[in-house]
Amino acid sequence: MSLEEVARRYAVSVSPALLDLIDPADPKDPIARQFLPSLEELNILPEERADPIGDAAHSPVAGIVHRHPDRVLFKAVSACPVYCRFCFRREMIGPSNIKGKDNALSREEFEAAIAYIGAHPAIREVILTGGDPFILSPRRVEEITGRLAAIAHVKLIRWHTRVPVTDPARVRDGLVAGLHAAGATTWVAVHANHAREFSPSAKSAIAKLVDGGIALVSQSVLLKGVNDDVESLAGLMHAFVENRIKPYYLHHPDLAPGTSHFRVRIEDGLALMKQLRGRLSGLEMPTYMLDIPGGFGKVPLESDHLEKTQGGYRVRDMAGHWHDYIAS
Ligand SMILES: *Cc1c(COP(=O)(O)O)cnc(C)c1O
Ligand code: SF4
Repeated sequence: MSLEEVARRYAVSVSPALLDLIDPADPKDPIARQFLPSLEELNILPEERADPIGDAAHSPVAGIVHRHPDRVLFKAVSACPVYCRFCFRREMIGPSNIKGKDNALSREEFEAAIAYIGAHPAIREVILTGGDPFILSPRRVEEITGRLAAIAHVKLIRWHTRVPVTDPARVRDGLVAGLHAAGATTWVAVHANHAREFSPSAKSAIAKLVDGGIALVSQSVLLKGVNDDVESLAGLMHAFVENRIKPYYLHHPDLAPGTSHFRVRIEDGLALMKQLRGRLSGLEMPTYMLDIPGGFGKVPLESDHLEKTQGGYRVRDMAGHWHDYIAS
């Protein structure tokens, strides 16, 4: 078993901006752990799934995931500047030479996706995800924004990205300008998992977005060995708020293949949330979420959506149906 085997299976790439942040003297460096490949990734458990949150079950046309009537995911590109080792879509993303997949929608697929959104008046929010959509050129971002904003029922355009921390130099004036269009409001969800990711250049990239009139929320994944202690999580939430990002979701790690070394037990996650509630203001608190394996949607875990069973847990989706959650 070798790292080449890992790289054959899953895309590997670390940006210079992140390499600079790694402390080679720290064997537990939270940046290294998130981005440098590890042999543990070859350990695939039976409960892990190629499509852990069931995107495929709700995809009417290429690039679109329509699970909730009022909002869709729009996956315009499947590449990222860096590849997180815990990525929940790791089987679907990568540069085009990995597994023969194309890294962007074809022109026809793009038009079909826009047509689908246009034909469904219930869709008021479009969530650009991927991959990382901020890897697209400013001109392409502007085109997507313009095409979506021109659809009368689309009121909100939300971009989910890790670029402000993974490749901050990409956040230029042209990109920020391309996020605005009359007729729709733009939000950006910034993905970061540790306060150490907030380098001076990451902070300026974030400031450029906020000063450019974009509202920002956060997205993080609870990861063993990266942020699964109250100090790291509190530091991360402080960093978000100090950089004018409202903490939104803290995701329980998904059952993506070869990621069990990142997985935290739900009871440990709940205990951490309890400690955070004692330390953070309401403004600084994220919501701890689980995406129910199989495509049943996300639910908050600090709620009556969770019950302990003999082998693990069962989780109630928003429709009131219970689903078993079993993971070691
Ligand atoms: C996560 C997700 C959304 C967005 O959910 P919010 O709770 O609105 O942030 C929308 N559609 C799908 C399919 C999702 O997985
Ligand atoms: S940036 Fe997002 S999509 Fe890309 S590898 Fe990381 S988690 Fe996956």
